[in-house]
Amino acid sequence: MGPLMDRFGREHNYLRISVTDRCNLRCVYCMPEEGVEFTDTSNLLSFEQITEVVQSAARFGVTKLRITGGEPLVRKNLDQLIRMLASIPGISDISMTTNGILLAPQAEALRDAGLNRVNISLDTLSSARFKFIARRGELRRVLEGIEAAGRVGFDPIKLNCVLLRGVNEDEIGDFLQMAYEQPLHVRFIEYMPIGHADDNWRKQYLPLTRVLEIADERGMSYRSRDDVSGSGPSDNYEIIGGRGSFGLIHPISDEFCKRCNRLRLTADGYLKPCLYWMEELNVRQALGSEDAMEALLRKALDLKPESHEMAATLAGGTLSHVPTERRMSQIGG
Ligand code: SAM
Ligand code: SF4
Repeated sequence: MGPLMDRFGREHNYLRISVTDRCNLRCVYCMPEEGVEFTDTSNLLSFEQITEVVQSAARFGVTKLRITGGEPLVRKNLDQLIRMLASIPGISDISMTTNGILLAPQAEALRDAGLNRVNISLDTLSSARFKFIARRGELRRVLEGIEAAGRVGFDPIKLNCVLLRGVNEDEIGDFLQMAYEQPLHVRFIEYMPIGHADDNWRKQYLPLTRVLEIADERGMSYRSRDDVSGSGPSDNYEIIGGRGSFGLIHPISDEFCKRCNRLRLTADGYLKPCLYWMEELNVRQALGSEDAMEALLRKALDLKPESHEMAATLAGGTLSHVPTERRMSQIGG
């Protein structure tokens, strides 16, 4: 009954849980605009089933959970799930990644249920550009969500900003300025080829070295820091003299797999050892048996590859495994 260690000596204490593949937005880098087929709601893991998986994972050292989707806040009564998860012995940190559209009215109930932190996705500060990137929804609602997150005391508040060449790279300076002025942690994320390594991805992929170049051009002083709560694969920087900080998540230009400590549970009930590859295991087969669930968790670790090889995908090289056909919205990021 040891910790969840994989073949490469990486200990897993973190489970990302997708609660739905549905979403109220259609971000260009995540989903097509029309014609997306969603998992039938009757086929989603129930709150009780998710809780059972987490109880097993917690017995073997999982302490941190992240709720994601699709858009997690479109799943009804999510605060009930948070409450159920927060009461599991060993679980000490529950966070959520959300697009923020539905956050303001739910923030207080989520906090009261035991949610500790939120990451809010925000790729632009321009309403017109928001329409282009997210295709639906309004920037104003996201900004209200960020404000509500601060008001109810989520800490730290992180913003996830996926950078796309020729689309929002001209806003890097504005986001840095935002992190200078406000107590926010802005995480710049490289565009990943999840579910579609197509020409558009190759064209729009932007290495994050650009962020530090722009910080330098603006005369911003920053220094590396490693104390941002739950920072995982992010390289973090404190802005000297500023109120906030920023981070770089660069899976392609600087692979982070050596530090990987996470497993993923999809909304339709599959355990994914790696974000990028196709391998996954059906947790429904193990529900109802602690031994079977432990065996499944350990099998997922045995299947976990050393790294994701997205850089080889960009370079057009040969890959060691088959990439997943799921979109990011069907995995949870
Ligand atoms: N709907 C929620 C949201 O957008 O925050 C949670 C799910 S979303 C799939 C999780 C994160 O993945 C978001 O921060 C989103 O920006 C990011 N993401 C989606 N597709 C991506 C891609 N192709 N490359 C990099 N990040 C991506
Ligand atoms: Fe929805 Fe999040 Fe995907 Fe955007 S990134 S389409 S908000 S799941």
